[in-house]
Amino acid sequence: MPECIFCKIIAKQIAVSPVYENDDVLVIRDNNPQAPVHLLAMPKKHYAAIHEVPAAEASLFSDLFAGIGKAVEQEDLSRHGYRLVVNSGEKAGQSVPHLHVHILSGRPLHWPPG
Ligand code: 5GP
Ligand code: ZN
Repeated sequence: MPECIFCKIIAKQIAVSPVYENDDVLVIRDNNPQAPVHLLAMPKKHYAAIHEVPAAEASLFSDLFAGIGKAVEQEDLSRHGYRLVVNSGEKAGQSVPHLHVHILSGRPLHWPPG
């Protein structure tokens, strides 16, 4: 998806300092953070949303969550607690149509979310 901003970041056409990276997953810092720690974990393969990932590609999810676990350990987020959020669809607040998981931490996180 050449017009996708996250694909451009994954392809290193836009420079970022990754928090964590492997062959399948990239974790970066959100450039408009909503908490003291606000990371974005994304599969390197482009899918717009969870429901678009075919069953045959389900290993994408284990890879993604394994990458999230690595980033959480590396940033020591379990000390504060952390929240994972996936906005799916414009009405749910998704602004970048490349599947990604927000990792929020470093402040009290209230429930229910808005
Ligand atoms: P969404 O609104 O789709 O759930 O989340 C997209 C997130 O990506 C937003 O929190 C936004 O701040 C972040 N974002 C958008 N463009 C960029 C970018 O170029 N670099 C980084 N680091 N974050 C971005
Ligand atoms: Zn993309």
